[in-house]
Amino acid sequence: MTQPLVVFDNVVKHFGSFQAVECMNLEIYKGEFVAIMGSSGCGKTTTLRMLAGLEKPSKGEIRLNGERINDLYSWERETPLVWQNLALFPFLNVIENVEFGLKMRGMAKAERRKKALLWLERLGLEEFAERDISQLSGGQKQRVALARSLVTEPPILLLDEPLSALDANLSVRMQSVLTGLQKDLGITFVYVTHSQSEAFAMADRVVIMSRGRVEQIGSPQEVFREPHNRFVAEFVGGKNILVGTVTALGDASLVRVSSEHGEFQARLPDGKTVVPGDRVTVCLSAEHVDLSVQASRPNRLACTVVGEEFIGSMVNIHLEAKDGLELQVQKMHADYDQLGIRSGQQLFAEWDAESALILRGE
Ligand code: ATP
Repeated sequence: MTQPLVVFDNVVKHFGSFQAVECMNLEIYKGEFVAIMGSSGCGKTTTLRMLAGLEKPSKGEIRLNGERINDLYSWERETPLVWQNLALFPFLNVIENVEFGLKMRGMAKAERRKKALLWLERLGLEEFAERDISQLSGGQKQRVALARSLVTEPPILLLDEPLSALDANLSVRMQSVLTGLQKDLGITFVYVTHSQSEAFAMADRVVIMSRGRVEQIGSPQEVFREPHNRFVAEFVGGKNILVGTVTALGDASLVRVSSEHGEFQARLPDGKTVVPGDRVTVCLSAEHVDLSVQASRPNRLACTVVGEEFIGSMVNIHLEAKDGLELQVQKMHADYDQLGIRSGQQLFAEWDAESALILRGE
Protein backbone atom coordinates (compact mmCIF):
# COMPACT_ATOMS: atom_id res chain seq x y z
CA MET A 1 0.00 0.00 0.00
CA THR A 2 1.29 3.49 -0.88
CA GLN A 3 2.56 5.60 1.97
CA PRO A 4 0.41 8.67 2.63
CA LEU A 5 2.03 12.00 1.81
CA VAL A 6 0.58 13.62 4.95
CA VAL A 7 -0.51 12.01 8.19
CA PHE A 8 -2.27 13.70 11.09
CA ASP A 9 -1.79 11.20 13.88
CA ASN A 10 -3.99 11.97 16.94
CA VAL A 11 -3.31 15.68 16.54
CA VAL A 12 -4.74 18.02 19.18
CA LYS A 13 -4.48 21.82 19.27
CA HIS A 14 -5.23 23.90 22.36
CA PHE A 15 -5.20 27.67 22.62
CA GLY A 16 -4.92 28.03 26.40
CA SER A 17 -7.76 25.96 27.81
CA PHE A 18 -9.72 26.06 24.52
CA GLN A 19 -9.47 22.97 22.34
CA ALA A 20 -9.55 24.13 18.70
CA VAL A 21 -8.76 20.71 17.17
CA GLU A 22 -9.67 17.50 18.96
CA CYS A 23 -7.76 14.33 18.12
CA MET A 24 -7.48 14.63 14.34
CA ASN A 25 -6.58 11.50 12.38
CA LEU A 26 -6.26 12.04 8.65
CA GLU A 27 -4.18 10.56 5.85
CA ILE A 28 -3.72 12.44 2.59
CA TYR A 29 -2.28 10.71 -0.47
CA LYS A 30 -0.14 12.06 -3.29
CA GLY A 31 -2.20 13.70 -6.02
CA GLU A 32 -5.35 13.97 -3.91
CA PHE A 33 -7.55 17.04 -3.66
CA VAL A 34 -8.79 17.10 -0.08
CA ALA A 35 -11.19 19.79 1.11
CA ILE A 36 -11.61 20.54 4.80
CA MET A 37 -15.00 22.05 5.45
CA GLY A 38 -17.31 22.97 8.28
CA SER A 39 -18.96 25.97 9.85
CA SER A 40 -17.11 29.01 11.16
CA GLY A 41 -14.75 28.32 14.06
CA CYS A 42 -14.75 24.51 13.65
CA GLY A 43 -10.94 24.33 13.37
CA LYS A 44 -10.38 24.17 9.59
CA THR A 45 -7.82 26.97 9.39
CA THR A 46 -6.04 25.80 12.55
CA THR A 47 -5.64 22.35 10.95
CA LEU A 48 -4.21 23.89 7.78
CA ARG A 49 -1.94 26.22 9.75
CA MET A 50 -0.53 23.25 11.67
CA LEU A 51 0.30 21.57 8.37
CA ALA A 52 1.85 24.81 7.07
CA GLY A 53 4.01 25.15 10.20
CA LEU A 54 2.28 28.31 11.42
CA GLU A 55 0.87 26.60 14.53
CA LYS A 56 2.39 23.78 16.53
CA PRO A 57 0.24 20.79 17.55
CA SER A 58 -0.30 20.55 21.34
CA LYS A 59 -0.29 16.74 21.08
CA GLY A 60 0.11 14.09 18.38
CA GLU A 61 2.26 14.05 15.30
CA ILE A 62 2.09 15.46 11.76
CA ARG A 63 4.17 13.58 9.19
CA LEU A 64 5.11 14.61 5.65
CA ASN A 65 6.52 11.77 3.52
CA GLY A 66 6.86 9.71 6.70
CA GLU A 67 8.95 12.38 8.52
CA ARG A 68 7.70 14.08 11.68
CA ILE A 69 7.37 17.81 10.91
CA ASN A 70 5.87 19.12 14.19
CA ASP A 71 9.01 21.05 15.05
CA LEU A 72 9.91 22.37 11.59
CA TYR A 73 9.31 26.07 10.87
CA SER A 74 7.11 26.94 7.91
CA TRP A 75 10.14 27.81 5.76
CA GLU A 76 11.77 24.47 6.57
CA ARG A 77 8.93 22.41 5.10
CA GLU A 78 7.54 22.36 1.57
CA THR A 79 3.95 23.20 2.39
CA PRO A 80 3.20 26.65 0.90
CA LEU A 81 -0.10 28.24 1.77
CA VAL A 82 -2.28 30.41 -0.49
CA TRP A 83 -4.25 32.77 1.73
CA GLN A 84 -7.70 34.17 1.32
CA ASN A 85 -6.17 37.68 1.12
CA LEU A 86 -3.39 36.31 -1.16
CA ALA A 87 -0.66 38.28 0.67
CA LEU A 88 1.02 39.36 -2.58
CA PHE A 89 3.81 41.91 -2.15
CA PRO A 90 2.46 45.27 -3.40
CA PHE A 91 5.98 46.70 -3.85
CA LEU A 92 6.93 43.93 -6.33
CA ASN A 93 5.45 43.53 -9.81
CA VAL A 94 3.84 40.29 -11.03
CA ILE A 95 6.97 38.42 -12.12
CA GLU A 96 8.94 39.59 -9.09
CA ASN A 97 6.19 38.22 -6.84
CA VAL A 98 6.35 34.88 -8.63
CA GLU A 99 10.17 34.80 -8.49
CA PHE A 100 10.28 35.62 -4.79
CA GLY A 101 10.41 32.06 -3.40
CA LEU A 102 13.17 31.09 -5.87
CA LYS A 103 15.21 34.18 -4.93
CA MET A 104 14.93 33.23 -1.26
CA ARG A 105 16.33 29.82 -2.19
CA GLY A 106 19.32 31.48 -3.84
CA MET A 107 18.47 30.60 -7.45
CA ALA A 108 20.40 32.67 -10.03
CA LYS A 109 18.47 35.54 -11.65
CA ALA A 110 18.31 34.21 -15.23
CA GLU A 111 17.17 30.79 -14.11
CA ARG A 112 14.49 32.06 -11.75
CA ARG A 113 13.16 34.49 -14.38
CA LYS A 114 12.82 31.61 -16.85
CA LYS A 115 10.99 29.50 -14.30
CA ALA A 116 8.70 32.33 -13.20
CA LEU A 117 7.82 33.06 -16.85
CA LEU A 118 6.96 29.42 -17.40
CA TRP A 119 4.52 29.53 -14.47
CA LEU A 120 3.03 32.81 -15.65
CA GLU A 121 2.43 31.16 -19.02
CA ARG A 122 0.87 28.08 -17.41
CA LEU A 123 -1.56 30.33 -15.60
CA GLY A 124 -2.25 32.53 -18.64
CA LEU A 125 -0.52 35.56 -17.09
CA GLU A 126 2.49 36.13 -19.35
CA GLU A 127 1.17 39.45 -20.70
CA PHE A 128 0.96 40.80 -17.12
CA ALA A 129 4.54 39.92 -16.11
CA GLU A 130 5.68 43.53 -15.60
CA ARG A 131 2.41 44.89 -14.20
CA ASP A 132 1.95 46.22 -10.69
CA ILE A 133 -0.15 44.02 -8.46
CA SER A 134 -2.59 46.91 -7.92
CA GLN A 135 -3.39 46.87 -11.67
CA LEU A 136 -4.75 43.32 -11.68
CA SER A 137 -8.30 42.01 -11.32
CA GLY A 138 -9.27 39.71 -8.42
CA GLY A 139 -9.02 36.59 -10.59
CA GLN A 140 -5.63 37.64 -12.00
CA LYS A 141 -4.27 38.25 -8.48
CA GLN A 142 -5.53 34.81 -7.54
CA ARG A 143 -3.56 33.25 -10.38
CA VAL A 144 -0.41 35.23 -9.45
CA ALA A 145 -0.72 33.89 -5.87
CA LEU A 146 -1.01 30.35 -7.27
CA ALA A 147 2.00 30.84 -9.58
CA ARG A 148 4.02 32.25 -6.66
CA SER A 149 3.27 29.17 -4.55
CA LEU A 150 3.71 26.61 -7.32
CA VAL A 151 6.96 27.97 -8.78
CA THR A 152 9.00 26.12 -6.16
CA GLU A 153 7.24 22.90 -7.25
CA PRO A 154 6.14 21.80 -3.79
CA PRO A 155 4.66 18.31 -3.30
CA ILE A 156 1.59 19.86 -1.70
CA LEU A 157 -0.27 23.16 -1.83
CA LEU A 158 -2.42 24.43 1.02
CA LEU A 159 -5.24 26.81 0.18
CA ASP A 160 -7.27 28.74 2.75
CA GLU A 161 -10.59 29.95 1.29
CA PRO A 162 -8.77 31.22 -1.83
CA LEU A 163 -11.96 31.95 -3.78
CA SER A 164 -14.08 33.54 -1.07
CA ALA A 165 -13.34 37.12 -2.17
CA LEU A 166 -14.37 36.48 -5.80
CA ASP A 167 -17.84 36.92 -7.27
CA ALA A 168 -19.84 33.76 -7.98
CA ASN A 169 -19.03 33.56 -11.74
CA LEU A 170 -15.32 34.12 -11.29
CA SER A 171 -15.24 31.69 -8.40
CA VAL A 172 -16.70 28.94 -10.62
CA ARG A 173 -14.16 29.76 -13.39
CA MET A 174 -11.30 29.64 -10.87
CA GLN A 175 -12.56 26.27 -9.61
CA SER A 176 -11.84 24.78 -13.02
CA VAL A 177 -8.43 26.52 -13.18
CA LEU A 178 -7.58 24.96 -9.81
CA THR A 179 -8.80 21.43 -10.57
CA GLY A 180 -7.16 21.55 -14.02
CA LEU A 181 -3.81 22.58 -12.50
CA GLN A 182 -4.07 20.07 -9.72
CA LYS A 183 -4.75 17.14 -12.05
CA ASP A 184 -2.22 18.23 -14.72
CA LEU A 185 0.57 18.64 -12.18
CA GLY A 186 -0.43 15.66 -10.04
CA ILE A 187 0.12 17.89 -7.01
CA THR A 188 -1.71 17.37 -3.70
CA PHE A 189 -4.13 20.13 -2.69
CA VAL A 190 -5.47 20.64 0.82
CA TYR A 191 -8.20 23.20 0.55
CA VAL A 192 -10.11 24.88 3.37
CA THR A 193 -13.55 26.24 2.63
CA HIS A 194 -16.89 26.86 4.28
CA SER A 195 -18.56 26.47 0.87
CA GLN A 196 -20.06 23.05 0.30
CA SER A 197 -20.55 23.65 -3.42
CA GLU A 198 -16.85 24.54 -3.86
CA ALA A 199 -15.67 21.52 -1.88
CA PHE A 200 -18.06 19.08 -3.55
CA ALA A 201 -17.26 20.37 -7.04
CA MET A 202 -13.49 20.08 -6.68
CA ALA A 203 -12.42 17.60 -4.02
CA ASP A 204 -11.68 13.88 -4.28
CA ARG A 205 -12.37 13.64 -0.54
CA VAL A 206 -13.92 16.01 1.95
CA VAL A 207 -13.24 16.24 5.67
CA ILE A 208 -16.24 17.59 7.55
CA MET A 209 -15.45 19.19 10.89
CA SER A 210 -17.55 20.54 13.71
CA ARG A 211 -16.34 22.11 16.95
CA GLY A 212 -12.79 20.85 16.48
CA ARG A 213 -13.83 17.30 15.68
CA VAL A 214 -13.77 15.36 12.41
CA GLU A 215 -17.34 14.23 11.77
CA GLN A 216 -16.77 12.35 8.51
CA ILE A 217 -14.17 11.82 5.82
CA GLY A 218 -15.16 10.51 2.40
CA SER A 219 -15.74 11.31 -1.25
CA PRO A 220 -18.42 13.98 -1.86
CA GLN A 221 -20.74 11.20 -3.11
CA GLU A 222 -20.21 9.05 -0.01
CA VAL A 223 -20.75 11.94 2.37
CA PHE A 224 -23.86 13.07 0.53
CA ARG A 225 -25.36 9.60 0.10
CA GLU A 226 -24.38 8.13 3.45
CA PRO A 227 -23.84 10.81 6.07
CA HIS A 228 -22.60 9.23 9.31
CA ASN A 229 -24.50 11.41 11.73
CA ARG A 230 -27.08 14.13 12.07
CA PHE A 231 -24.50 16.92 11.93
CA VAL A 232 -23.20 15.78 8.53
CA ALA A 233 -26.73 15.12 7.22
CA GLU A 234 -27.80 18.63 8.14
CA PHE A 235 -24.53 20.15 6.93
CA VAL A 236 -24.77 18.67 3.42
CA GLY A 237 -28.42 19.77 3.25
CA GLY A 238 -31.51 18.42 1.56
CA LYS A 239 -32.02 15.76 4.22
CA ASN A 240 -35.02 14.94 6.41
CA ILE A 241 -34.31 13.52 9.85
CA LEU A 242 -36.69 11.12 11.61
CA VAL A 243 -36.02 9.61 15.03
CA GLY A 244 -37.62 6.34 16.14
CA THR A 245 -37.24 2.96 17.80
CA VAL A 246 -36.48 -0.30 16.01
CA THR A 247 -39.48 -2.64 16.39
CA ALA A 248 -38.49 -5.53 14.11
CA LEU A 249 -35.64 -6.73 11.94
CA GLY A 250 -36.62 -7.48 8.37
CA ASP A 251 -35.07 -8.99 5.28
CA ALA A 252 -31.48 -8.13 4.41
CA SER A 253 -30.61 -4.73 5.80
CA LEU A 254 -34.17 -3.44 6.26
CA VAL A 255 -35.66 -2.84 9.71
CA ARG A 256 -39.00 -1.59 10.95
CA VAL A 257 -38.98 1.69 12.86
CA SER A 258 -41.73 3.20 14.96
CA SER A 259 -41.69 6.97 15.44
CA GLU A 260 -44.12 9.46 16.92
CA HIS A 261 -44.96 10.44 13.34
CA GLY A 262 -45.79 6.93 12.14
CA GLU A 263 -44.24 3.55 11.29
CA PHE A 264 -41.89 2.91 8.41
CA GLN A 265 -39.03 0.76 7.17
CA ALA A 266 -35.44 1.94 6.97
CA ARG A 267 -32.11 0.61 5.70
CA LEU A 268 -29.07 -0.15 7.82
CA PRO A 269 -25.73 1.05 6.44
CA ASP A 270 -23.12 -1.70 5.85
CA GLY A 271 -21.62 -2.91 9.09
CA LYS A 272 -24.21 -1.42 11.45
CA THR A 273 -26.34 -3.76 13.52
CA VAL A 274 -29.36 -2.98 15.70
CA VAL A 275 -31.77 -4.91 17.91
CA PRO A 276 -35.44 -4.20 18.60
CA GLY A 277 -35.72 -1.40 21.16
CA ASP A 278 -32.68 0.56 19.84
CA ARG A 279 -33.24 4.27 19.19
CA VAL A 280 -32.18 5.21 15.66
CA THR A 281 -31.90 8.38 13.62
CA VAL A 282 -33.04 8.03 10.04
CA CYS A 283 -32.06 10.29 7.16
CA LEU A 284 -34.26 10.64 4.11
CA SER A 285 -33.02 12.68 1.13
CA ALA A 286 -35.45 15.31 -0.12
CA GLU A 287 -35.04 14.04 -3.70
CA HIS A 288 -36.09 10.50 -2.70
CA VAL A 289 -39.49 11.49 -1.35
CA ASP A 290 -42.50 11.30 -3.68
CA LEU A 291 -45.81 13.06 -3.21
CA SER A 292 -49.20 11.61 -3.95
CA VAL A 293 -52.82 12.37 -3.21
CA GLN A 294 -53.71 8.69 -2.71
CA ALA A 295 -51.51 6.66 -0.36
CA SER A 296 -49.87 3.89 -2.38
CA ARG A 297 -46.73 2.80 -0.55
CA PRO A 298 -46.16 1.37 2.94
CA ASN A 299 -43.56 4.01 3.89
CA ARG A 300 -45.47 7.22 4.08
CA LEU A 301 -46.51 10.17 6.20
CA ALA A 302 -49.66 12.24 5.83
CA CYS A 303 -48.55 15.85 5.36
CA THR A 304 -49.75 19.35 4.58
CA VAL A 305 -47.96 21.58 2.07
CA VAL A 306 -46.70 24.70 3.88
CA GLY A 307 -44.50 26.35 1.25
CA GLU A 308 -42.46 26.14 -1.92
CA GLU A 309 -39.13 27.55 -2.93
CA PHE A 310 -37.86 27.69 -6.52
CA ILE A 311 -34.15 26.94 -6.93
CA GLY A 312 -33.03 26.86 -10.55
CA SER A 313 -34.51 23.81 -12.22
CA MET A 314 -35.75 22.35 -8.93
CA VAL A 315 -38.54 23.18 -6.50
CA ASN A 316 -38.21 22.62 -2.76
CA ILE A 317 -41.59 21.76 -1.29
CA HIS A 318 -41.96 22.24 2.46
CA LEU A 319 -44.40 19.97 4.29
CA GLU A 320 -45.62 19.53 7.81
CA ALA A 321 -46.56 16.11 9.19
CA LYS A 322 -48.16 15.03 12.46
CA ASP A 323 -46.68 16.55 15.63
CA GLY A 324 -45.11 19.44 13.73
CA LEU A 325 -42.50 17.34 11.91
CA GLU A 326 -41.13 19.38 9.00
CA LEU A 327 -40.20 17.60 5.78
CA GLN A 328 -38.71 18.86 2.55
CA VAL A 329 -39.17 17.32 -0.85
CA GLN A 330 -37.26 18.23 -4.00
CA LYS A 331 -38.87 17.92 -7.43
CA MET A 332 -38.12 18.97 -10.98
CA HIS A 333 -40.38 21.76 -12.26
CA ALA A 334 -42.24 19.42 -14.64
CA ASP A 335 -43.09 16.96 -11.82
CA TYR A 336 -44.09 19.83 -9.59
CA ASP A 337 -46.42 21.25 -12.27
CA GLN A 338 -47.93 17.83 -12.89
CA LEU A 339 -48.76 17.42 -9.21
CA GLY A 340 -50.50 20.83 -9.20
CA ILE A 341 -49.26 21.47 -5.67
CA ARG A 342 -50.73 24.33 -3.66
CA SER A 343 -50.21 25.59 -0.15
CA GLY A 344 -52.48 23.94 2.45
CA GLN A 345 -52.98 20.81 0.32
CA GLN A 346 -53.10 17.42 2.10
CA LEU A 347 -50.72 14.87 0.54
CA PHE A 348 -48.81 11.73 1.33
CA ALA A 349 -45.02 11.87 1.42
CA GLU A 350 -43.90 8.38 0.34
CA TRP A 351 -40.57 6.68 -0.16
CA ASP A 352 -38.91 3.32 -0.79
CA ALA A 353 -37.53 1.61 2.30
CA GLU A 354 -33.99 1.62 0.80
CA SER A 355 -34.02 5.43 0.65
CA ALA A 356 -34.45 5.86 4.41
CA LEU A 357 -30.95 5.43 5.81
CA ILE A 358 -30.27 4.72 9.48
CA LEU A 359 -27.34 6.92 10.50
CA ARG A 360 -24.29 4.90 11.44
CA GLY A 361 -22.91 7.22 14.09
CA GLU A 362 -26.04 8.02 16.10
P1 ATP B 1 -13.55 30.29 9.89
O1 ATP B 1 -14.30 29.58 8.80
O2 ATP B 1 -14.40 31.27 10.61
O3 ATP B 1 -12.22 30.83 9.44
P2 ATP B 1 -12.23 27.97 11.09
O4 ATP B 1 -12.98 26.68 11.05
O5 ATP B 1 -11.14 28.13 10.11
O6 ATP B 1 -13.26 29.16 11.02
P3 ATP B 1 -10.21 28.33 13.10
O7 ATP B 1 -9.62 29.60 12.60
O8 ATP B 1 -9.43 27.10 12.92
O9 ATP B 1 -11.68 28.12 12.57
O10 ATP B 1 -10.49 28.51 14.67
C1 ATP B 1 -10.98 27.44 15.47
C2 ATP B 1 -11.24 27.99 16.86
O11 ATP B 1 -9.99 28.31 17.48
C3 ATP B 1 -12.06 29.28 16.88
O12 ATP B 1 -12.95 29.22 17.97
C4 ATP B 1 -11.03 30.37 17.05
O13 ATP B 1 -11.58 31.47 17.75
C5 ATP B 1 -9.97 29.67 17.89
N1 ATP B 1 -8.64 30.20 17.63
C6 ATP B 1 -8.01 30.22 16.43
N2 ATP B 1 -6.78 30.79 16.55
C7 ATP B 1 -6.66 31.16 17.85
C8 ATP B 1 -5.62 31.77 18.62
N3 ATP B 1 -4.47 32.14 18.05
N4 ATP B 1 -5.86 31.98 19.93
C9 ATP B 1 -7.01 31.59 20.51
N5 ATP B 1 -8.02 30.98 19.86
C10 ATP B 1 -7.85 30.77 18.54
